[in-house]
Amino acid sequence: AAKAEGGHRVQLFDLAMRQAADERYRCIEDLRVSLTSGAFEVHYQPLVTMADRRPFGFEALLRWRHPTRGLLLPGSFLTEAESIGLMVPIGEFVVQQVCRQIGIWREVGLRPGRIAINLSRNDFQLGANIAGLTEAIVEAGVEPAQIEFEVSETVAFGTRGEEVVEVLLELRRQGFSIALDDFGTGHASLMHLHRLPVDTIKLDRSFIVEMADSVIDRALVRAVAALGRDLGMRVLAEGIETEEQATAVRELGCECGQGYLFGRPMTAETATDWLARHKPGAMPNFSAEAAR
Ligand code: C2E
Ligand code: MG
Ligand code: MG
Ligand code: MG
Repeated sequence: AAKAEGGHRVQLFDLAMRQAADERYRCIEDLRVSLTSGAFEVHYQPLVTMADRRPFGFEALLRWRHPTRGLLLPGSFLTEAESIGLMVPIGEFVVQQVCRQIGIWREVGLRPGRIAINLSRNDFQLGANIAGLTEAIVEAGVEPAQIEFEVSETVAFGTRGEEVVEVLLELRRQGFSIALDDFGTGHASLMHLHRLPVDTIKLDRSFIVEMADSVIDRALVRAVAALGRDLGMRVLAEGIETEEQATAVRELGCECGQGYLFGRPMTAETATDWLARHKPGAMPNFSAEAAR
């Protein structure tokens, strides 16, 4: 009987695997179509200075308005998109949307500040076309100073780190700025931070969440804030949801923040209303930028 039961379990397991595979396959088919059918959108989340909570820019975040599953977050489809080589075209799409939106805001006299665009590791691999992205930006009449490219720490310090650094240096030469995303989640060492051409360090949300209960996390936030100051890098804390977190982050020396407390990711239309109500402040100035 035990054997039969075991066999039954194996069948159930097979079935679950099959269903998961089918779902993945359907997701991939939907993805291919979506990129050309206008089902992807870019949403905008404010980036603020902690001292006065005024926005100095936005992060552009990809959304997928799925015909049956609703509005999907990148976590539920980026892995599939990457597996079929869709990350580079997605990057082109996001750049194009952001440039278009900056143009629309300019026409109605709104100044969004600096827009942060996420790059994926695929953007640094053979066959990627970062030069194509920067050309599209310049051709759209957007100043490089208006764009910050975000690269996650695991990419910047990964196996092809040296090549990534070369690309980042070139981006900076052209006047773009660079943010090191999800800082603290990988193997980045504080000792090596100064070797990267980075304007902004984005402290990962996990530190902000745990901060209240964790001496270690508080110490890390404080240390990164101090190092950033000394190296002339802006330090931004991700995922601030509560007043307590905002106060702690400020006291530990972080100058910039992002999180639901200040504003959620919004559609372009909602961000337009939001911008009209919140006057962006000047870009916080830091020694490294001034020196360049
Ligand atoms: P990320 O670059 O670290 O983006 C920040 C994420 O934190 C966003 O998730 C944002 O919605 C979320 N977030 C911001 N404030 C809060 C908060 O107070 N609480 C909580 N719980 N979350 C907060 P999202 O939009 O789901 O994006 C997830 C990741 O997907 C991004 O992490 C980024 O790595 C990737 N991604 C998003 N858009 C793009 C894109 O256009 N291109 C590429 N290559 N990757 C993207
Ligand atoms: Mg990011
Ligand atoms: Mg981030
Ligand atoms: Mg993150």
